[in-house]
Amino acid sequence: MINLPLVHNAKRCDFVIVGGGAVATRKVRTLVKAGANVTVISPEVSDDIQALADAGQVTLQCRSVADDETYPSGAYVVLATENSGVNAVQAARARTAGASICRTDIQDDNDFIFPAVVDRSPLLVAVSTSGATPALTRYVKERLEAFIPDDYRRLASWMETLRSRLRDSRTSASRTGFWRRWMRSQAPEQILARRPEVAESITEQLLQGQEVSAGEVFLVGAGPGDPDLLTFRALRLMQMAEVVFYDRLVSPKILAMLPADAEKRYVGKARSDHSVPQEGINQLLVDEALKGKRVLRLKGGDPFIFGRGGEEIEELAAAGVPFQVVPGITAASGCSAYSGIPLTHRDHAQSVRFVTGHIRNDTCDLPWDELIHPSQTLVIYMGLVGLPQICEKLIAHGMPADTPIALVEKGTLPDQCVHTGTLSSMPSYVEGRDIQAPTLTIVGSVVSLHEKLRWR
Ligand code: SAH
Repeated sequence: MINLPLVHNAKRCDFVIVGGGAVATRKVRTLVKAGANVTVISPEVSDDIQALADAGQVTLQCRSVADDETYPSGAYVVLATENSGVNAVQAARARTAGASICRTDIQDDNDFIFPAVVDRSPLLVAVSTSGATPALTRYVKERLEAFIPDDYRRLASWMETLRSRLRDSRTSASRTGFWRRWMRSQAPEQILARRPEVAESITEQLLQGQEVSAGEVFLVGAGPGDPDLLTFRALRLMQMAEVVFYDRLVSPKILAMLPADAEKRYVGKARSDHSVPQEGINQLLVDEALKGKRVLRLKGGDPFIFGRGGEEIEELAAAGVPFQVVPGITAASGCSAYSGIPLTHRDHAQSVRFVTGHIRNDTCDLPWDELIHPSQTLVIYMGLVGLPQICEKLIAHGMPADTPIALVEKGTLPDQCVHTGTLSSMPSYVEGRDIQAPTLTIVGSVVSLHEKLRWR
């Protein structure tokens, strides 16, 4: 180990910052945030430092640092002037006085350095490459920022309170066992899902030595296909799953992000192949959760938009199985963004309507009159097979035959393809081509923006 990370109680530390430019400002900001006692010595300072000084949060000495400057013994001195010679002289002065120094201009003469910090106080994650490569430090920090949601503050505070409750009542060995069981229970996720009362009751049961089932269902929207469009919460819950039931629309790249040891079961529905009927899926979710498993129900897009997610959780609610629902980017949003077709636009459409073009008994039963509206965008899910019929009905009910229409094939995926035409041309266009599911249909004058706004 090249360096030793220690966590200081900043409130008990005196920092002297020599310099008032951009680097000094960054350090001062961090130190003030941590509650340190900060003095800045510099003839000129940034507006930020000046504002902190005006607010009484730092002591500002508006002067050049003296050649025979004296520093308090035990202080932490940050040398952040733009002049390396000055930094070197002051480093020697500070050390002579018994202070520790951090030079921001060189790496190999420091008593301490600042790590990058992911701040979810009381949880802190410090990242450092020991000064070797700030770019890598930043990169890792940014990744951690994304994976440790801000809500971890609440989780950490909650655990801190529980910890003080346990301190007097248990031996240290039994505390360790308790915490292991607690972390594996649903309690942490319940806190993150803002249901502290459920976490409280699980905690009580664990404290009384009762077995608590970890059985729970996460109904998660996986978005339209591009794994980059998953939400942080979706990814976190995916990584916790023991059993996964997934649909046809969940892309292989997303499936590859599931834990290797999770049991993965395909329950997808192609149009005519209902591999597991809906009632069967509902029951499977209940059964697995009641066995104590963490069950992930992973669905394409958003689970509550043409996803039958509502039916699945109705069953769970009836069986008393805990669940949570994670929204996903629905196909309409994904396809619209990735094809450069805004669903609303002040010059084209003030409203948007999502409908299903699913054909039942050879007909597509939609409230046609309501769909004909000049400033409304129409988004049709599951509309490929019924496309000729849909175009024909829209025209028959009064939509102009030259209304622009787009068919977004495999939206957001690497092989996405956007086909455009008009209500009258699209049926024959589709007939001669091998267009593959999933496809989403967008009807309305916004489609004309595709030529200008396409970016992929
Ligand atoms: N719950 C999903 C929709 C399920 S219905 C959601 O919110 O997106 C299935 C229909 O969604 C498909 O027939 C297709 O019309 C549309 N769809 C889903 N993913 C798509 C994609 N990547 N590209 C185009 N259409 C898609």
